[in-house]
Amino acid sequence: MDLKYTRKNVYKEADGAELEKIYGFAEEYKKFLDNSKTERDASKEAQKLAETNGFKPFSFSEKLKAGDKRYFVNRGKNLFLIRVGKEDVAKDGIRIMVAHVDSPRLDLKPNPMYEDSGLCYLKTHYYGGIKKYQWTAIPLALHGVVMLPGGKKKEICVGEEDSDPIFYITDLLPHLSQEQNQKTLAKAIEGENLNAVIGGLPAVGGDEEDKECVKTAVLNLLNKKYGITEVDFQCSELCFVPAGRARDVGFDGALISAYGHDDKVCAYPEMRAVFDCDSPHTVMAVFADKEEVGSDGTTGMQSRVICDVIDTIANSFNANPIEVRYNSKCISADVTAGYDPTFSAAFEKRNTTFISCGAAVSKYTGARGKSSSNDAHAEYMGFIRDIFDANGVYWQTGELGMIDLGGGGTVAMYIANLGIDTVDVGVPVLSMHAPYELISKADVYSLYKACLAFCK
Ligand code: MN
Ligand code: MN
Repeated sequence: MDLKYTRKNVYKEADGAELEKIYGFAEEYKKFLDNSKTERDASKEAQKLAETNGFKPFSFSEKLKAGDKRYFVNRGKNLFLIRVGKEDVAKDGIRIMVAHVDSPRLDLKPNPMYEDSGLCYLKTHYYGGIKKYQWTAIPLALHGVVMLPGGKKKEICVGEEDSDPIFYITDLLPHLSQEQNQKTLAKAIEGENLNAVIGGLPAVGGDEEDKECVKTAVLNLLNKKYGITEVDFQCSELCFVPAGRARDVGFDGALISAYGHDDKVCAYPEMRAVFDCDSPHTVMAVFADKEEVGSDGTTGMQSRVICDVIDTIANSFNANPIEVRYNSKCISADVTAGYDPTFSAAFEKRNTTFISCGAAVSKYTGARGKSSSNDAHAEYMGFIRDIFDANGVYWQTGELGMIDLGGGGTVAMYIANLGIDTVDVGVPVLSMHAPYELISKADVYSLYKACLAFCK
């Protein structure tokens, strides 16, 4: 019996076969991530994978039965994967895992386009919590949809292929930055400075009087390629995200750097667990939208939609939906801040999660005196510990940094507010919300094993 608790490094514990599984899973995760930069991209990619795995479209008016595998894509941005088990859903409830697939980025303003000094720009409005200075002088790709008059939808993705151009937000050269250098990080680059260069070639043989001949030329290109005009931006959802793919980090490739680990690094394992489990329980994986901006709206976890899906499952078996929810269990799968020795002063070392030490369990998140937090019951923590330990899951526990420095929330409280026992289980991340974040392959694989154990 171990009297004392010590955190274990997964890479130190794993044998050769386990290490191979860890690295193999990482390759599949990277592939998913490269196709899932926005919530729309992730939902589309997951739908494709669900269909490959034998899942069929879900309907609110359908009577489900044991063995059914369903997917529901809510408005293209919020996805539910449902696998109906043979256990009595009233007594057994549903095993629910929720991760979010929206990530911090730069949305376009409704009237984004202008020309200045021979360059054409798009103005942006940042989405989620970003450090603005990190988004200048890096390659950006444009993702999203534009609605044309009459309901036709144009999908746009530029900047991901090697042959594509990328887009670029400038920063001031150091030679002229004496004043900028005196500003705080928050003020050095302001929201209205995040304007992306999208063109520099004037229209040839155009109107001599045209003061915006570069903008005219870019609009011509856009019209030719997508059939859009300037006013169509008002009915669009386009955003700039960092261009490029997920890459291994380090000589040993133990880590992965990529855009949007938060929270696709949890969405992928929970999805895979639903595909790969063969469970007597009814299990559900949710890809949530709008987590980074408060989870409001029709595709966020404060919406009724998740309740409606649960009620539909309950009604299929003439079960009382209240009883189903009361007996359900949830893992809110979201990332947490891993300990960063370079910024050690931000962490309380005994109560933080460490890179490569396995799935990160957080009893509570929130800020200050645990405000805006789901504080999981001891009984539920005990349940989670027992299933993880019984299934050889490497896991650790910690808080998000020092108490008085800030804080952050997840969707856990919104699910718990429905009367469903919920706890946060995720992956520790370094440089969270930066254009390129860092995670360990050992941790994403540990979360996959944790989700499998939870479904089992
Ligand atoms: Mn998150
Ligand atoms: Mn986040």
